[in-house]
Amino acid sequence: MNKKTLQLPKYTMGVGDRFGKEGQAQLAALLRARKDGVDVSPVWNKSFREHSIIHTEPLSVRQAADSAVKATGWPLPYFVDADHINFKTVDGFIGSSDFFTLDVASAIGTTADSKALEAFVARHEDLCGRLAVEGLAEPMTVTRDLLFSVAEKYLFAVQEAGRIYRRVEQAKGAGCFVTEVSMDETLQPQTPSELLVILAAIADEGIPAQTIAPRFSGRFNKGVDYVGDAAKFACEFEADVAVVRFACKRFDLPANLKLSVHSGSDKFKIYGAINAVLRKSGAGLHLKTAGTTWLEEVVGLAEAGGEGLAIAKDVYRAAIDRFDELCGPYSEVIDIDRKALPAMSEVSRWDGAAFAAALRHDQSCPRYNPNLRQLLHVGYKVAAEMGSRFLDALDNYRSSVAVNVETNFYERHVMRVFPSQGK
Ligand SMILES: [Zn+2]
Repeated sequence: MNKKTLQLPKYTMGVGDRFGKEGQAQLAALLRARKDGVDVSPVWNKSFREHSIIHTEPLSVRQAADSAVKATGWPLPYFVDADHINFKTVDGFIGSSDFFTLDVASAIGTTADSKALEAFVARHEDLCGRLAVEGLAEPMTVTRDLLFSVAEKYLFAVQEAGRIYRRVEQAKGAGCFVTEVSMDETLQPQTPSELLVILAAIADEGIPAQTIAPRFSGRFNKGVDYVGDAAKFACEFEADVAVVRFACKRFDLPANLKLSVHSGSDKFKIYGAINAVLRKSGAGLHLKTAGTTWLEEVVGLAEAGGEGLAIAKDVYRAAIDRFDELCGPYSEVIDIDRKALPAMSEVSRWDGAAFAAALRHDQSCPRYNPNLRQLLHVGYKVAAEMGSRFLDALDNYRSSVAVNVETNFYERHVMRVFPSQGK
């Protein structure tokens, strides 16, 4: 990469929030981590889906980022991510973003034309056989069949990523933005050997990807813990890290290319494994979660009592009434047991501490209810519709909200995932 290329630092993490109010609290958490020797650069993100549900514009994210950085004196680089954009939605993000997550999951499975497929397989036939990949206990076996089947399934999607990339490049200029390719929002996980072939295709397509988001095995539901075999995830993640490093050299991809984990937040069961692999390998990571900030806002409002608690209860009441409408857009990434949701008659008697205990993600607390948590997670549309009633409460109960946002981000996420630098 040339000198002018905008480089993504080793450790980066998603920040930002639905309502653009918590940037300072999140940076306060990252500043605390920095004091502890853990340097993580923030990447503001808000997906097209969030913008459309809440009726905000991408420029508002840039403004929230710039003003939080100014107010806190944040000293390291920071980025604004056009999260999960595709060819249809990219244009609205070009002016305000310097990080683009090219989401091509919906193109997976569409087959590229046969000439392109054959040319790809011929170009990469040298991968076939047993490949010694540093960091893997056993050599990786790539067969011609695997090469062909991965190409059949993913080549078109990578070509689509190329189309989106070139659209951004044309508008902003090469090297002026960071590129991520995401394939996570699909049901079938990609294996490490599939990832290797996908990276070959990304290099062929001329996409200078600095992060890649594969679909890992297990379920990554929104706002609740990982569902799956954590030990299996650990092996897969370690193998993916090794494959990424190998692919950088072999295919001449950007040297800082790293994995991006789209966690849907709060995957505490696998944070330890991620931390251990990062320590051992020295690899970088982009963790695309802001730590369920919106839910921390609700916790903070509930704990503040008064109008804050009344708002928390009103959001829950409306979320129960509008269950299908709110859950619909997220049906792939939530699993709510409706029978286990507390009745409104019960919730209306709760004090702030009881509401916070049911919502806060503390699995050791017997009052914690993951069903209520997931429902409130998708209930932000209700808060958006409250307009100034909700936004004013975030200002009026600022200290209660900020302490919850900051503590959650620092303790439950940043410090569990990222090792201190150089160790
Ligand atoms: Zn994602």
